[in-house]
Amino acid sequence: RPLVIAVDGPSGSGKSSVSREVARRLGLEYLDTGAMYRAATWSVLEAGVDLTDAPEVAQHVRDLDLTMGTDPSAPGVRVRDHDVAAAIRETAISTVVSKVATNLEVRAELLKRQRDLIQAARVGTHQGVVAEGRDITTVVAPDADVRILLTASEEARLARRAKELHGTADAASVEATRDQIVRRDSDDSTVSNFEVAADGVLHLDSSALDFEQTVDAVLAAITR
Ligand code: C5P
Repeated sequence: RPLVIAVDGPSGSGKSSVSREVARRLGLEYLDTGAMYRAATWSVLEAGVDLTDAPEVAQHVRDLDLTMGTDPSAPGVRVRDHDVAAAIRETAISTVVSKVATNLEVRAELLKRQRDLIQAARVGTHQGVVAEGRDITTVVAPDADVRILLTASEEARLARRAKELHGTADAASVEATRDQIVRRDSDDSTVSNFEVAADGVLHLDSSALDFEQTVDAVLAAITR
């Protein structure tokens, strides 16, 4: 029977890299829903749509030609004929993505697409999917076979993201990262609660775990 694994968590919790590795090891598809919000934001900016015009932003996203690759070894993201996998990670996107993601009509549209992608990963030769984001355990796939909330202390999340972005976790790099992590989570938390595990969701705190240990803990939760 195809498996659906749902993983939620805040920025810097390690949910993307961990989910991707877990999918790879189990031969499952991988769905990065944050990348969908990022790609939508990229397209809105590229089209010059006013970010404060909520109906216009929503219409743009309903018309969006977005293709999500779900191979965990090479999860591509395409908008029309643009490969946006790298561009959507840039600071210019990270700083405004919450504005698009808190638009409720945008969420309704991407929710529909996320459910379709999860369904597609359960049929044919597919074995299932690891889907990760902010609201997968609660809204997108509350009926998933395994639901995990992956968190880490603010200190651990800042250090990880600083290393990713600046190659070091010295004081200056951590400060430069703070705005991205802390403010974005606070903006996002107006529409999704990813700090507290919902009923039936396993809470995994990775503050004291390295990458391998976190992957092992998630695998243990799945095979239990
Ligand atoms: O996971 P990542 O940090 O790439 O997500 C980027 C943004 O997309 C988040 O800051 C949030 O605004 C939005 N998001 C969301 N719901 C999800 C996944 C991401 O609102 N399921």
